[in-house]
Amino acid sequence: MPQSLDSIVAIATAPGRGGVGVVRVSGGHVSSLAISLLGKLPVPRHATYAAFHDFDGSIIDRGIALYFPSPNSYTGDDVLELQAHGGSGVLSLLLKRCLKENVRLAKPGEFTERAFLNNKLDLVQAESVADLINATTEQAVRSANRSLAGDFSNTINQMIRKLIDLRVHVEASLDFPEEEIDINDVNFCESQLTEIRFTLDKTLKLAQQGSILREGAQIVLVGKPNVGKSSLLNCLSGEDVALVSEVPGTTRDTIRQTINIKGIQLHIIDTAGLRDSQDVVEQMGMERTRQAISKADAVLVLKDVNDEAGHELEKIFKLIPENIPRLHVINKIDLVIQNARAENHGNLTYVYLSAKTEQGIDLLKDKILQMINWHEEEGVFIARERHLQALIQAKQCLDSAATVLTRWEILAEELHQAQVALGKITGEFSSDDLLGEIFSHFCIGK
Ligand code: GDP
Repeated sequence: MPQSLDSIVAIATAPGRGGVGVVRVSGGHVSSLAISLLGKLPVPRHATYAAFHDFDGSIIDRGIALYFPSPNSYTGDDVLELQAHGGSGVLSLLLKRCLKENVRLAKPGEFTERAFLNNKLDLVQAESVADLINATTEQAVRSANRSLAGDFSNTINQMIRKLIDLRVHVEASLDFPEEEIDINDVNFCESQLTEIRFTLDKTLKLAQQGSILREGAQIVLVGKPNVGKSSLLNCLSGEDVALVSEVPGTTRDTIRQTINIKGIQLHIIDTAGLRDSQDVVEQMGMERTRQAISKADAVLVLKDVNDEAGHELEKIFKLIPENIPRLHVINKIDLVIQNARAENHGNLTYVYLSAKTEQGIDLLKDKILQMINWHEEEGVFIARERHLQALIQAKQCLDSAATVLTRWEILAEELHQAQVALGKITGEFSSDDLLGEIFSHFCIGK
């Protein structure tokens, strides 16, 4: 594999102090840099204890050097990793030292981009590296690892291979006039197509779950002042994040808090109390409520058990677009000595709870997960919005393909478009712009 002469370096460990800090170099100048820095080329893939020398021969630090010659490295190019003491002074001296040897500073994600360009990883796997680093829950870690190991890519590649086989068959039939179509050919195409569509539906479901794991969900909490929105938020998050007060209208702004329920991140937005107010600051808060609701995955409408549903609640309902799932939460049941429970009235669900005593909070958590369509499933792999869009596009093409089985030309085109859509996921057909966008969100040094 011809390796990149353009060599890059970055501090691979997080900023701040730590026991160990890592500087990583990749590219064609690695071996000359290793010899001048360490006095020798370390044995490949062996931990070598060495002094890290500055240009003038003085020692910057002593530590472990790891040398991975091309192509058996993370990037596919020669890679040198220097494990030094993890302080910003040591690491920046080492970085500066490397920069003097025909090596430039790496852009965010550039090591992984090289791995992609050198075919060490496909695009889904490269993205899952960033998702693994960003994962904050056990479930997110496991599913990012599944994508990194190639589970998602393998499923996509299998579908692409089957599509290619089917296309070969269909394209071979293109030259025959319609009246000479063999029914066996049609049956064969139908069964092949059904199989691919089945796999695609299953993959889309898993990817939708993976996307919830990666992105979490936006939950907006609305209700009149003093019904207990801040208290409920505190209770769900287990922290005192919102201001709780007896004076109506205390929560003037929207407060965003991320909580974790069964591994799913819920971004809960506590909104300003919705009521007619002359107070300019409070009115600004209400405008934010409207904006937050328009972007929500689900809305919790909170009500005080002692409060009659009046015209103010009607106003709140009007703010919630039809397509956004909502759950009615009746708070303060401790005041009327009722049990926590869920009730369905028509297509509306009511959860009775107390933010004060925490009765019914677990029930609410389960209902929220149902609302955002999360259900624990085996083998979920982390997925992004662009993967979902591509899968949906492929699905639309295959759905149309199933309706034009005897019209070879249209069928061939639908199958081709489905293949292109799937190819975008693994990076087979991707523009430079997309690659730039993906890798720019990585951290430096990865
Ligand atoms: P918000 O304006 O909707 O955010 O309401 P707060 O969370 O500030 O609560 C208003 C008042 O109701 C505070 O005095 C809370 O302690 C009280 N409160 C909230 N939830 C409960 C509950 O479940 N039971 C009882 N008894 N009081 C509650």
